[in-house]
Amino acid sequence: MKERITKYLDTLINKGSVAIKLQFKKPRKSSKKYRFKEDPLGEEEKYSPIKGIVHKFGNRILWKITYRCAAHCQHCTRTRQIGTPDGDLTNENILSGAEYIRNHPEIDEVILSGGDPMFTVLDTMDALNELMKIETVKVIRIGTRMPLHSPDSFKTKHFKELLKKLRLIAKKRRLLVLVHINHPDELTRKVLNVLHTIKKTGAEILTQTVFLKGVNDNVEALEKMCITLYHNGIRPYYIYRCDYVRGLERFIVPLRKEKKIMTDLRKRLSGPAYPIYVIDLPDGRGKIPPPLDFWKNTGSSRTCFDFDEKKIRI
Ligand code: SF4
Repeated sequence: MKERITKYLDTLINKGSVAIKLQFKKPRKSSKKYRFKEDPLGEEEKYSPIKGIVHKFGNRILWKITYRCAAHCQHCTRTRQIGTPDGDLTNENILSGAEYIRNHPEIDEVILSGGDPMFTVLDTMDALNELMKIETVKVIRIGTRMPLHSPDSFKTKHFKELLKKLRLIAKKRRLLVLVHINHPDELTRKVLNVLHTIKKTGAEILTQTVFLKGVNDNVEALEKMCITLYHNGIRPYYIYRCDYVRGLERFIVPLRKEKKIMTDLRKRLSGPAYPIYVIDLPDGRGKIPPPLDFWKNTGSSRTCFDFDEKKIRI
């Protein structure tokens, strides 16, 4: 995955944000000692019936609209794909995706993902139009980092159209916008204004965060991020352990440290400000919350999760 960064993020890096620099700038010397697989969750290999769709759990699917994004997060779980045009969906692909969903009435929730579906905003609007024709789809989620990659984009004509569409959808379906945020430095006034604008459409905003070594593996940063979100009416939803993806070895935080941080954070935050801490297990069991340090003798991480922390510690 090539380095790609917006002017806006570059400005924040030049003002001194180490947390943003580590997420978007490639290190001068990058290690070639890879220990992980490219696609440990087996998205394409096991769960993709047609282009763009990942159907792993019965009632919900991921619909990957594109592999492109405004900026490339160096910790991205899909580094194998990001930046290539291969993931762009043609009209036919969008129609076949909609057909697949229609033929599976058990799917009541569709998560638009990518890449960043808000980067290829026109294709996303086409997909949304198709989804609105399918009665069995009750919940639509859109995963994005666009508000913090490029908040000024939301002033453009296409984004104004998207916001209008979200307003219409929110009246008829449950609409969630999942924003990936990793550090309080990302929550500038500009970004918060965009999040408020999205919220005014009637969409709920939730956030997801990934534990990243050197970026947010400290309780103070996460406390500040969660409190800022909470005070702004945004629910910190998930905090993930970083997936074991090839090239992300340098970002992995020791599991013991993450558990300690989440234990400390639980004491500092109000319930609705506290994200659910999960590990997306490569064996297909999904996102499982590990026990925190409040519980003694509940078994080691090894016995609970079938992987040996010692083998993967960097
Ligand atoms: S915006 Fe999302 S999909 Fe795109 S590079 Fe960042 S984490 Fe990956």
